[in-house]
Amino acid sequence: MPELISFSHCPACNSESVYPALSAKDYTVSGELFEIWHCDDCSLRFTQPIPAADKIGAYYQSAGYISHSDTAKGLINRLYHFVRTHSLQTKRKLLQQATGKQKATLLDIGAGTGAFVHTMKQAGWEVTGLEPEENARKVAFDKYGIQLVSPDHLFQLGKASLDAITLWHALEHVHDLHGYFEQFYYLLKRGGSLVIAAPNYTSYDAKAYKEYWAAYDVPRHLYHFSPKSMELLGDVKGFWLADSKPMWFDSFYVSMLSEKYRHESGNLIGALWNGLLSNIKAIFNKESSSSVIYIFTKK
Ligand SMILES: [Zn+2]
Repeated sequence: MPELISFSHCPACNSESVYPALSAKDYTVSGELFEIWHCDDCSLRFTQPIPAADKIGAYYQSAGYISHSDTAKGLINRLYHFVRTHSLQTKRKLLQQATGKQKATLLDIGAGTGAFVHTMKQAGWEVTGLEPEENARKVAFDKYGIQLVSPDHLFQLGKASLDAITLWHALEHVHDLHGYFEQFYYLLKRGGSLVIAAPNYTSYDAKAYKEYWAAYDVPRHLYHFSPKSMELLGDVKGFWLADSKPMWFDSFYVSMLSEKYRHESGNLIGALWNGLLSNIKAIFNKESSSSVIYIFTKK
């Protein structure tokens, strides 16, 4: 039996004004139900209860994945790969713009199989990549010759040694939220950039799909950020929010998965429609975007 952690306070702002908002199912691995709680003060949502850090690995095992129809799976995978290649260069430019530097020092947390670390190294950056999954680290080494390191390395780096830290869909997986944020502050130079991409449960597509919204991804996503909760947390930890940007492709990808969770067969037209609506709303209001990139500066 996995060891479980329940929060009596908001894991971000420590408020006691927290209550259950909805229940969501783990569609990709366990099929188990988890509650998602809401904080009335900072508006963070969080999964409740969560497996302990040393037990959650079981929920990342893909052996138990629900089999999806090959057509839909193929299409979603193709879309994912297209988007990833495109977005690597967009992310590089974003980082160069945020730091005002063509080349600098970077720590990428949740590096996966190393595609972004590789992109930045190609651009001449000095990069450290942290990745908890041993298998992913091995792929990064075989594919790019990059040696990613385990997350405990975060606490071994030097003070004010970095120009930038990136977490592309990684912070919502981190148990030690406060310890990580405090370490970001310690590691960055003054004026350094902290770039965090995270799903946005206040987005149009999240509201449309409710408990079927694929980016709840319980219990792997421990926290579900709103733009407000992210800005408040950053502020308390010594960062000001310099800018935020929508992630245009995420709404389509997440809508396609959400449709499949809602109806086994999936509804491609419905997914494209909701993805499009989410993006149209995000043109006028960044806070409607399915995922948001938060660009913080160390105060
Ligand atoms: Zn809170």
